[in-house]
Amino acid sequence: VPERIRHALAEPPPHHRTDAFRATLRGVTEALATLHGTQGEVFTLAASGTGAMEAAVINLMAPGARALAVVGGVFGQRWADLLRAHEVPHEVMPHAWGTAPDPAELAARLDADPDLAVVFATHSETSTGTLADVRALARETRARGRVLVVDAVTSLAVHPLEQDAWGLDVVVCGSQKGLMLPPGLATLSLAPWARRAIEGQRRPRFYFDLTRARRGLATGDTPFTPPVSHVLALEVALAMLREEGLAAVHDRHRRLAHAVRAGGLAAGCRLFSSAPSHAVTALEPPAGVEAAAIVRRLREAHGMVVAGGQGELRGRILRVGHMGAHGHDDAVAVSAALAECTAALGAPVAADAAQAAREAWGAA
Ligand SMILES: *Cc1c(COP(=O)(O)O)cnc(C)c1O
Repeated sequence: VPERIRHALAEPPPHHRTDAFRATLRGVTEALATLHGTQGEVFTLAASGTGAMEAAVINLMAPGARALAVVGGVFGQRWADLLRAHEVPHEVMPHAWGTAPDPAELAARLDADPDLAVVFATHSETSTGTLADVRALARETRARGRVLVVDAVTSLAVHPLEQDAWGLDVVVCGSQKGLMLPPGLATLSLAPWARRAIEGQRRPRFYFDLTRARRGLATGDTPFTPPVSHVLALEVALAMLREEGLAAVHDRHRRLAHAVRAGGLAAGCRLFSSAPSHAVTALEPPAGVEAAAIVRRLREAHGMVVAGGQGELRGRILRVGHMGAHGHDDAVAVSAALAECTAALGAPVAADAAQAAREAWGAA
């Protein structure tokens, strides 16, 4: 979390029923719409990203309507878990972890089952470090009149994402990934043509009832107390993204990802994903080295925090996050540290990982 954003968080929390705060929230909502690439509505929720996912499920699913969850990792599975928790009749389209979902397979599933009204998918699957081509998925859902909901929690402000142009009906995000904030705020955007998708009889909803939130959206009013300090911080984060320029932000993440991948490979690791995301790099450790040992050594010897695997990948991979406020030197430093760790843990390391990262940064 960059210092500028931390300063905003340290401001005295404003009272939310004031003209000043309403104006701030309206400005933030407008900037979020630009970031989501939509002319539609953007709702700001006091929740982690999963709250926005749950809001999508209960606001979109009419009683009896059926859904399809595209599942290739922990976060895709979360869609299926939410659907089950809300007793939404649903199907699952599984795809191998570390691979992107196949749009042709989605098309076939939708053709075979015309009642699958809403499709839930993940843009950047953080558990496997994999990017889905949600634009291609949207071509299939749009062509068949189905609703597509995209979890963009680790793709927004990392990868290009054009909600309206790509045909994404609903996009959800959380504050603690590319948006550089602490956890606690989530966003949900509805494409202009999807306005009616939350209307009518739906699953039981109260706190996350978006039709209720809609009433105050234009004036900057929220049905309940908004996360005021997070809104101030988000205003700063959005200004920072604007100042750097969104294209430059995406470019920086592409370079970061290429540099960390090259550094990881030079350190003797293998890339886990066949369609790697620019938000997080999932690496398989060198033969004979435990992923958890690398994670531990990075923390203890280098003061760097990276993640291990989740779900079925526990113990099999490590994941280097590079979404948000990171740059060239971070990619080089983590690459050098990774190589030190794998060498110390007994892997033969032939290449200069820092140099590999620098070169990949330049070439990306
Ligand atoms: C982090 C994350 C979420 C949200 O998780 P929370 O813990 O609820 O913030 C959802 N989807 C993806 C892909 C994520 O990386």
